[in-house]
Amino acid sequence: MKFCINCETESVVHSKKDIHVGEEKIRLEVDNCKKCGTVFLSPKDQEKIDEWGNTLTTAVKETQPYFTDEVYNITRDYAKKYGLKWTQFVKLCTAFYLFKMTKDKNFKKAREVLLAQTAENFSIKDRKTKHSVSISYRMLKQLELFSDVWSVREANVVEEAVLCCVGLLDFGKEIVEFEKMFDEKKTELQEYVVEYATSA
Ligand SMILES: [Zn+2]
Repeated sequence: MKFCINCETESVVHSKKDIHVGEEKIRLEVDNCKKCGTVFLSPKDQEKIDEWGNTLTTAVKETQPYFTDEVYNITRDYAKKYGLKWTQFVKLCTAFYLFKMTKDKNFKKAREVLLAQTAENFSIKDRKTKHSVSISYRMLKQLELFSDVWSVREANVVEEAVLCCVGLLDFGKEIVEFEKMFDEKKTELQEYVVEYATSA
């Protein structure tokens, strides 16, 4: 048997195991430790999981962000404006944030500035309510990645994505430092949402 780097015994076998991804699971033959249960996924295993995950048409996980009533009401109004359900709008904001915003070379600073401004504009003392948002495999992978890189919990990623998108829509271009970038992102976000809304 191979050596397990977790429990430091020679207990690693190659056998069928359930790999859990959110609420879903896939059974694969993988290296795993008989003693401590650690599963070691090879890049090939990861590829198989991705292939499977990307074909799933249902959500794999429920994430539970908290929003103040003020932010909830604003996002509900935007959703209505675009003819979307609230959760659809939240998911679109999250997707836009993770797949588009993060690609910008100024993302780090822009994120700081946007979050600081939303904290100033929206009352943080306002009552916060937990909401449920179901997410797909693809979104979950991207959330996990962001969560690792920026050390933010998954549900908090959704919260900040929504805050930043509302920031862009509401007052982004008033922030002088990022006037141009935020104005462009606002247009992109609007197009992104409209594109989805008309295809949904
Ligand atoms: Zn072990």
